[in-house]
Amino acid sequence: MKNTPPLLLIVSSPSGAGKTTLCTKLLNEFGDLRFSTSHTTRPPRPNEVDGQDYHFVDTTAFEKMVDRDQFVEWAHVHGERYGTARTEIDAATAGRTDLIFDVDCQGARQIKTQYPEAVGVFVLPPSIEELRRRLEKRGTESAQSLDRRVEAAIKEIARHELYDYLLINDELAAAYDRLRAILLAERARHDRLVGVAEKLLVD
Ligand code: ADP
Ligand code: 5GP
Repeated sequence: MKNTPPLLLIVSSPSGAGKTTLCTKLLNEFGDLRFSTSHTTRPPRPNEVDGQDYHFVDTTAFEKMVDRDQFVEWAHVHGERYGTARTEIDAATAGRTDLIFDVDCQGARQIKTQYPEAVGVFVLPPSIEELRRRLEKRGTESAQSLDRRVEAAIKEIARHELYDYLLINDELAAAYDRLRAILLAERARHDRLVGVAEKLLVD
């Protein structure tokens, strides 16, 4: 068990820019990193697993959690509800595992307000045309949903100032190298490891 508080790493991007791809690679490489599994009212995609990619719930169940104040943050995104349960942060704090959040810019702002030490990474596509191409290639959206996501991307990109890091996902391997560099550098920050240094002085 580590001796430092968990790092809260927010990874946001407009839909289709590649944050799921990048986060999955990071989670596969770093066993001591936990994914914050959000709740959503959106239906699962064919390859998605309930409880792993998301907790898939209906609107009634989601609203019940809102009423009981069980979310750290929640938001309407692309016509559906998405939220981060408080239990996700509690579990990371108890287990002292670093936690990665895949949330939109509304979620990033709400988490940063409550946890100013959280670190925000904004994944950007090299161009809007490439974003559309990636969404089309992924094949998960109807034409209407695709247009809505591209339109929303422009508004989300305008919120770039919320984040500590901007990560252009041009070439996947190079973008991934930069993401892991951010994780490693953030884990080595003085204010995260000060307890370790001070413990050496009293031992
Ligand atoms: P997001 O989670 O941001 O919505 P995904 O990770 O699902 O995006 O990526 C959208 C699509 O783009 C997927 O089909 C993925 O394989 C592809 N993709 C991700 N990164 C790159 C990249 N650097 N170059 C080309 N295609 C990519
Ligand atoms: P998707 O439907 O493509 O999985 O996700 C759509 C958007 O919802 C993405 O921008 C994703 O980051 C965001 N999202 C996923 N989970 C949460 C959450 O718990 N809270 C917020 N605010 N956004 C979320």
